[in-house]
Amino acid sequence: MARRFEKFQSADRGNGLRATSILPPGELLYAMDEPFAYTVSKKSRGAVCERCLCRKDHLLRCSQCKFAKYCGVRCQKEAWGDHKSECKCLKSSHPRVPTDSVRLVGKIVFKLLKQSSCPSEELYSFSDLESNKKVLSEEIRSGLENLAMVLQLYLKEEIKDFSQLPPGSNILEFFAKTPEAGLIGQNKICVESSIYIKSEVTCNSFTISDGEMQEVGVGLYPSMSLLNHSCDPNCVIIFEGQRLLLRTIKEIQISEELMISYIDIMMPSADRQIELKRQYCFECSCHRCQTQDKDADMLAGDMVACKEVKESIPKMDELQAQQKWEQILALCHSFINSNINCLPDTNIYQMKMLDYAMDACINLCLWEEALLYGSRNLKPYSLYYSGFHPLKAVQMMKVGKLQYHQGKFSEALETLKQAFSIMKVTHGRDHSLMQDLMELLGDTEASMKTL
Ligand SMILES: [Zn+2]
Ligand SMILES: [Zn+2]
Ligand SMILES: [Zn+2]
Repeated sequence: MARRFEKFQSADRGNGLRATSILPPGELLYAMDEPFAYTVSKKSRGAVCERCLCRKDHLLRCSQCKFAKYCGVRCQKEAWGDHKSECKCLKSSHPRVPTDSVRLVGKIVFKLLKQSSCPSEELYSFSDLESNKKVLSEEIRSGLENLAMVLQLYLKEEIKDFSQLPPGSNILEFFAKTPEAGLIGQNKICVESSIYIKSEVTCNSFTISDGEMQEVGVGLYPSMSLLNHSCDPNCVIIFEGQRLLLRTIKEIQISEELMISYIDIMMPSADRQIELKRQYCFECSCHRCQTQDKDADMLAGDMVACKEVKESIPKMDELQAQQKWEQILALCHSFINSNINCLPDTNIYQMKMLDYAMDACINLCLWEEALLYGSRNLKPYSLYYSGFHPLKAVQMMKVGKLQYHQGKFSEALETLKQAFSIMKVTHGRDHSLMQDLMELLGDTEASMKTL
């Protein structure tokens, strides 16, 4: 398949990618099976295979480091080439556990050392970075410096002589590479997942999510770092395991730039600007930011109530990570009940509460209540994730599934069909989540016939 886009120099955003032919929505533009380097993220460690990132109840443990886990012997064997060096580092670090960034960068270093016929030269070729380094915020700079130190400690088992590697400051530069410099992009591309954006210094990497848009890993896909950001993107990145897929979600004209969103677009424009500035050091000038599109809807309702709910989010995330579902649900009840007349469902913080409540109910097997919250969020989701958006499709699939299991077959069919029409664009027919959806649709239709 001929490539239907090319690299170009944009007027105000540096390097970018643009279409070389008219592209309809739902086209697979690019697929990359193997990231340059990747690692499972801390929150999914032990729950997913470190090679293929599939979720499994029983995983095999690496007998050496007793840390890395795999779904089977095949994945373990496939991973060994990449894991061999880090295995020793992990073993020697025990009981300390490296952060996702440190682990990822360790893998990058090993990869660079291994691939190059002359490792030191390879690493030193990362030198033309002055201009980009200045752009980095103080916060990111100090984070990077800290990371470089921790990294040296972590790698000491495998890399005894650090003259092999650039000293700390150069490691810092190494992390700050721009896409045009070669291997590492400055862009961290977090696929619509604001929750994990706070994760330390992962500004060079992509968050790998599963089909349902839950974070499972973090990886480096160099050429995709050329993609620039828009809050109204025409492309989306979807993962299948560690495989990255770039898909169109709008019709794109010849020479039009391909854009993805680095952040969750369900944030008011001011918050998006803060996030983009902090993480990626730029200001977004897309039409949505210029017009403060949908800001009023997102923040509609009583300001005091809105602020209170917003401030509870970190606590809710913490409880969610600890799987304290009863506690989450109790908090959701109190917020949702007390804000019944002062926050509309379109308020994005109210939406978050409805989401927490649905997830908690699902985990507590309170199906009817889960459906109630999920359904309430469908319309607001459509408002903010308009057009073809993977998160909207995933939400519809969840609701459709709940409807199906409660015997509401005709409603389920309607919801699942809508999910299907979006997902065939965002995920594509070959994606495993799409297969699950088609199976569910088949089951729903079969159940309707037996009525
Ligand atoms: Zn596997
Ligand atoms: Zn190991
Ligand atoms: Zn914008």
